[in-house]
Amino acid sequence: MQETEMNGIWRKVIDRLSGEISEVSLKTWILPMKPVYADEKTFVLSVPDSFSYSNAIQWKNLIRNTFTVVCSRDYEIDIGVSGSQEIVDALRRQNTPLSPTQVEDHPRVSSQMNPQYTFDSFVVGSGNRFAHAACVAVAEKLGGRNYNPLFLYGGSGLGKTHLMHSIGNYVTQRHPEKKVVYVQCEQFVNEFISAIKEIAYDEFREKYRSADLLLIDDIQFIEGKEQMQIEFFHTFNALHESGKHIVMTCDKPPQSLASLEERLRTRFSSGLIVDIQPPDYETRVAILKRRAQLNNVNVPEDVLDYISANIATNIRELDGAFNTVLAYSLLAGSIDLEVATAALKDIIQPKPARQITAQIIMDVVSRYYNVTVNEILSNRRSQDITVPRQIAMYLCRFVLNMTFPKIGEEFGGKDHTTVIHACNKVSADLNSPNSSLSKDIEELKKRLII
Ligand code: ADP
Ligand code: MG
Repeated sequence: MQETEMNGIWRKVIDRLSGEISEVSLKTWILPMKPVYADEKTFVLSVPDSFSYSNAIQWKNLIRNTFTVVCSRDYEIDIGVSGSQEIVDALRRQNTPLSPTQVEDHPRVSSQMNPQYTFDSFVVGSGNRFAHAACVAVAEKLGGRNYNPLFLYGGSGLGKTHLMHSIGNYVTQRHPEKKVVYVQCEQFVNEFISAIKEIAYDEFREKYRSADLLLIDDIQFIEGKEQMQIEFFHTFNALHESGKHIVMTCDKPPQSLASLEERLRTRFSSGLIVDIQPPDYETRVAILKRRAQLNNVNVPEDVLDYISANIATNIRELDGAFNTVLAYSLLAGSIDLEVATAALKDIIQPKPARQITAQIIMDVVSRYYNVTVNEILSNRRSQDITVPRQIAMYLCRFVLNMTFPKIGEEFGGKDHTTVIHACNKVSADLNSPNSSLSKDIEELKKRLII
C-alpha cells in the first residue's frame, strides 16, 4: 500500500478513536504509534520503546475494531518496538528508507525504568537545577556517605520520577553488574503485605536488601502504615550500613510526613534533602522546544509562548497541553496559534481571578509602554503608539478570544482588517529570531492576571 494511503487510514483511525477514548489515553498511547507497513491484510505500527509497547498491546483489539469500522474490512494489527527486527523488516517491505536510529539496537535498559526518563532528556532550569545536580552526583558516585540517602521532594508533575529513573538508567547502563531496584512505594507496601500473607517474607527481604541502589518513589505512601515503617527502617539500615545507596522521592519534606516514626524521619533527613520547584517561564519554553524537536515538528514561537504562559503549575500538564495541540494540529493539518487556542479552550480559560476586559488590557498595555489609552484608541500611526496598540489587540484576541470585528469596535471603531493585520504582525514578530517581544507579552499577561 502507498505510504500516503497508509497514513490516511491511520489518521482516520485516530480521528475515530479520539471520540471514543479519553484524551489522555489518546495522547499517551495512540499518538506515539506510527504506521510503518500496510498491505491488504496487515497493518504494522511501531511504538517508540518497550515501555510504550507493554501498554500499546492493550489497545490492540480496540485498534483492530476501529480499523474494521473505518475501512469496512478486517486487518491484522501488528505492533512492534521501533528499531526491533520486526519493524526494520516492515519498513523494508514498505520500501521506506531507513534512518540510522531505526536500525540501531536499543540501549540496554532495565525494564523497571522508563527508558525515556534520562538526564539527557531532562531540561534543567532554576526550579530543578539543584535537584538535577544532586541526582547526577549520586548516579556518578554511588554508595558511601555521598548524599546518602537522597531525599527528593516537590509537587506533582515536577520531574521527581523522571530524575529518579534517570539515576536508575544511568547506573544500569554504566554498571550492568549493579543491582538497581526501583519501586513505587505503593507497590512496595503491597508486596510486603502479600509477602507476609504468603509467608514469603525472605524473598521480599532478599529482593530489597540485595540492592546496590534502591529507588523508592512516592515514599509518602508509607505515612500512617506502622508495620511497613518498621520493615522499611530495617531495610534502610541494612542497605545504608553496607554502603548501598537509597534515593527517595516524596510530595513533601520529611518533617511534614504525618505519623512517621521519629527514627525514620531522622534517617530520611540524614543525607541530602533537595526540593524541586515549579518551572519558570524560560524552562517551560525550553521543555516544549525539546518536545517539539523529539516529535520532529516545527512549532511556532507564539504557540510555545501561549502554552508556556498559560500553563505554569506543572510539567505533566504542560506536556498534556502540548500533546493536545499536536493531536489537533494533526487533524487540522497545520499548527498555529488559532489551532492551539481551539485545542486548549477547555484547559486554558481566558478568565483568571479578575474578569479581564479589553479596557483592562488597554490600560495595562498603555501603562507598560508609557502611552495613554486615548492614544491607543486614536488613529495615530507613530511607531511608539502602533506597537502597543497592536499588542493590545493581539492580547484581546488570544487572551480574551474576542472576534476581530469586536476588537475593532472596542479600539475606537477600527476596521477588522486592521485588527487582523495587527495580530499577524505581533505573531510574526514573536516568531522572528532574537525578538524580545515574547518577554514583554509574558510580562503583560502576568500583569493582567494579578
Ligand atoms: P513527578 O514524579 O514529580 O510527579 P514526573 O517525573 O512524572 O513528575 O514528570 C511528569 C512529566 O514531566 C514526565 O513526562 C517527565 O518526563 C516530564 N518532565 C518533568 N520535568 C522535566 C524536565 N525538567 N525536562 C523534561 N521533562 C520533564
Ligand atoms: Mg512521580
